Amino acid sequence: MPDVPTLKLNDGHEIPQLGFGVFQIDPDETATAVTQALEVGYRHIDTAEMYRNEAGVGEGIRASGIPREQIWITSKLNNGFHKPDDARRAFDGTLQALGFDHVDLFLIHWPLPSLYDGDFVSTWKVLEEFRADGRARSIGVSNFQVAHLEKLAAETGTVPAVNQIELHPYFTNPEVAGYCADHGIGVEAWSPIAQGGVLHDATITEIAQRVDRSPAQVTLRWHIQHGYIVFPKSTTPSRIKENFALFDFELTGQDMTALDGLNQGEDGRTGPNPDQFAYIPD
Ligand code: NDP
Repeated sequence: MPDVPTLKLNDGHEIPQLGFGVFQIDPDETATAVTQALEVGYRHIDTAEMYRNEAGVGEGIRASGIPREQIWITSKLNNGFHKPDDARRAFDGTLQALGFDHVDLFLIHWPLPSLYDGDFVSTWKVLEEFRADGRARSIGVSNFQVAHLEKLAAETGTVPAVNQIELHPYFTNPEVAGYCADHGIGVEAWSPIAQGGVLHDATITEIAQRVDRSPAQVTLRWHIQHGYIVFPKSTTPSRIKENFALFDFELTGQDMTALDGLNQGEDGRTGPNPDQFAYIPD
């Protein structure tokens, strides 16, 4: 099976373009799922403090026997910890739960513009500390809209390495993705198959039949050819394998355009709108 390509981020680090997402994987099942993914060949795991399964991620990595340096780990700052001292404590907790001395990428999970007096800038400056002391090799954001990215650009000296946003054929998020492309910010596409929501689409199933691939593979390949970073989630061993087999076929320009044309704008979102989202977990 061909190797997963890496993409060079704006800080020079190379991220595997395909990873494994662990949102909604039960903490008790996470280690097994992560070990299975690593056995298939994934070398990039996307977790978050909010998912309550960072410990399982660390456990699964250690159980695999694969050296830590060969695996890219991303985690995220939970919404209740945006104040600088809380963010420092939360990051210590993330490293402790993972059982490693650094993460490859650490993100502000949500901008929460209606909380903390709209101040995510002081939170970002704390992430800059983590990068400076080497405990986060790269730092970035998630669910940031263009206005939020512009505020960071105006008030801080570091451009986020990535912005992790909802993006799939029904919600192509062109405004945010375009801003990121123009400013050297890597685009990470969350819910890349819309949690399964695009898999029965007539356009996608027609292409899938023609190229003899599954609808999930066609959709994930569309992300890859757009240059997005993706980490589909699955706890089904056959799907974990299926989602990894993306590098021995290609979509034509016409097929790419057909998938682009499925965008439904705001109606296509499956998750919350970051401008309104103000959820703090218990
Ligand atoms: P995905 O788009 O990856 O879809 C996951 C769902 O699709 C699961 O129900 C899974 O079922 C099913 N599935 C997976 N592969 C296949 C397949 N080949 N055929 C059919 N069904 C399949 O959704 P996620 O929301 O999990 O997004 C991926 C990752 O993105 C998350 O795990 C997380 O890391 C990140 N994320 C980040 C967010 C953020 O705010 N930053 C928000 C949401 C996600 P099953 O497991 O039963 O196989």
